Amino acid sequence: MIHNYTEEAVKRLLPEILKEYTKNNPQTCTCIYCQEDIMALALNQLPPHYVVSDEGTILTRVSFEQIGGKAQIIAAITSAIKQVAANPRHDKSRP
Ligand SMILES: [Zn+2]
Repeated sequence: MIHNYTEEAVKRLLPEILKEYTKNNPQTCTCIYCQEDIMALALNQLPPHYVVSDEGTILTRVSFEQIGGKAQIIAAITSAIKQVAANPRHDKSRP
C-alpha cells in the first residue's frame, strides 16, 4: 500500500494547530470545507513523501525529520489557515 506520509502528518497536526490558531483568532471558520481547503493548500506547499507499508504500520516508522521537520509542516499549515480564513470558500460553489 502506498501512502503519502506528508498527508498523514498534516492530517495529524491540523486539529491542534487549528485549535491553537482559533484561540487567538476566534472568528476563524473551522467547518469541514475550510479544513479541507487548509489541508490542500498546506499539502501543495510541502514536498510529498511516499512510503510503502502494510496497513496500519505507516506512522510508527517515519519521523517528521524525514519530511523536512515538524516546524516546516506547522509553518505550511499556519500559512494555509491564514489564506483560507482570509478568503473562505465554504459558501461558494465548489469544484
Ligand atoms: Zn468554513
